[in-house]
Amino acid sequence: MHVALARKWRPRIFEDLVGQEAVARTLSNAIAEGRVASAYLLTGPRGVGKTSTARMLARALNCDKGPTIRPCGECASCREILDRGDSLDVLEMDGASNRKIEHARELIDTVRYAPQRDRYRIAIIDEVHMLTNEAFNALLKTLEEPPAHTRFILASTELHKIPATIVSRCQRFAFRALTVKEIAAQLQKVAKAEKIAVTPGAVRLLSTAAEGSLRDGLSLLDQAATIAGGAVDEARCAEILALVDRELLEGMYSAVAAGDRAAAIAHLGRLVESGADPRHVLKEFAVFLRRLLLVAAGASADVPEEDRARVSALARAMPYDNLLRSVSLALEADALGRRVDDPALAIQMLVLKLAELPRLRGIEETLAGIPAGAARPPAANPAPARAAAEGPRIMSLVPVESEPDEAASSAPAAPPGGDPLERFHEILDSRRRVTAAQASLAESIAVDRDDLVLRFGIDRAAAKEALEDHAAKKLLTEVAREAFGRPMRVVLKTGPPADGDLGKAAREVPRSTIARERASTRAESDPMVRSAIELFHGELTEIKEEE
Ligand SMILES: [Zn+2]
Repeated sequence: MHVALARKWRPRIFEDLVGQEAVARTLSNAIAEGRVASAYLLTGPRGVGKTSTARMLARALNCDKGPTIRPCGECASCREILDRGDSLDVLEMDGASNRKIEHARELIDTVRYAPQRDRYRIAIIDEVHMLTNEAFNALLKTLEEPPAHTRFILASTELHKIPATIVSRCQRFAFRALTVKEIAAQLQKVAKAEKIAVTPGAVRLLSTAAEGSLRDGLSLLDQAATIAGGAVDEARCAEILALVDRELLEGMYSAVAAGDRAAAIAHLGRLVESGADPRHVLKEFAVFLRRLLLVAAGASADVPEEDRARVSALARAMPYDNLLRSVSLALEADALGRRVDDPALAIQMLVLKLAELPRLRGIEETLAGIPAGAARPPAANPAPARAAAEGPRIMSLVPVESEPDEAASSAPAAPPGGDPLERFHEILDSRRRVTAAQASLAESIAVDRDDLVLRFGIDRAAAKEALEDHAAKKLLTEVAREAFGRPMRVVLKTGPPADGDLGKAAREVPRSTIARERASTRAESDPMVRSAIELFHGELTEIKEEE
């Protein structure tokens, strides 16, 4: 049977912990000197050895020959923990999967009893920040007056979500993300021991993709070795990592830099068609832009020698201040893309927004009344040093004028029978699925004389913005005319009803929609939603077109 490399190579003694020397040393010293805290808190990013350390610590405390920094690995306690992660007296709970207070109380209560066999009764609670407030209170009560034989080992990736009262009662160990170099060295070592042939280039790719997590690095190596069936090389790794096609990515950037929306979206379409995960494209694009920014700023940017000339040329394709703005927008979109159900929409919006940047002009120019573009070249590609010293410029931002509706002026067709709104959805669905899906995210669709008003909750602003795109809007207008048998103006709105009258809105739209609307109003205070508003709503309504 194939045992996953990440599991097989789990550290079993403190010396095996990669990259966490400070933690290993402090813990070893404390145990060697017989100083045992009643609660430990292990914090840090995922996949760097927190759970392994928790289990090592449990073995160190409960080993027959212990407490010892070198647990024997042969006594009943050691063997049980090695085999299963827990034992008769060591109880392990994952905060992420057992959130309920009953479970936490159960566990905490059980831990209060005297051990059945071993020295201590130990509770390991992974992802402890996921506990409910009630569970934290139960934990706090035990921590305030810990029974002599009770020990807690808590682990978490999110320290800031753990109440300070809990943190202050724990001995804390901060784990750090590993460097690419540290992960690469460990992957080399494991590959050698496991007789996996792997090229240095492949190791570099896998280590970078692991993003500081040794566990992820080992899993990737595992996958690569399984699929390759022979030598693991760069091409194979690129396949596994679904690396984004560099030429398409650069093509998309060039289109964006030129302000060519259609070409940018076409490149994005090809990227997604090539099988790249939109989340991955977002991340790669953000990394790519950041590299260009660094090059433009004259900083070293980890660019291989053979790519340097090309990358410099790309960096010059966009004015420095726009590049700076692009990186910031890309980072926001990347963060958003990880949270939303539809990351494709996040990158689409990003690309469209970036394509607007060439049409922006600096506020100084606006104030000075300089015509658009006149002041830009040759300053369009400022010397890096000068641009860096100036820093970002504030843009003059006003809404984009909507383009004229060509469809509205055409002769109306005879009105067909049935519910026109229903027909609208049917026709739209048959014409373009993406637009139909985006329109279906509207909180309400209402007819107001010759206006067809699609109102989107603030949390669906992204869908609304996508429909603002000329082609999509044109299609909506055409479909509306077909469905209603007369020219209709399509109006896209965001937020709660304009008159603020939820009662009136309730008569027009389904109850569930109102509930969502209220929730979304409340959600505006949520930092996550706020950043979405900033990215998709606040930004786009403030861009000025200057042809
Ligand atoms: Zn032992």
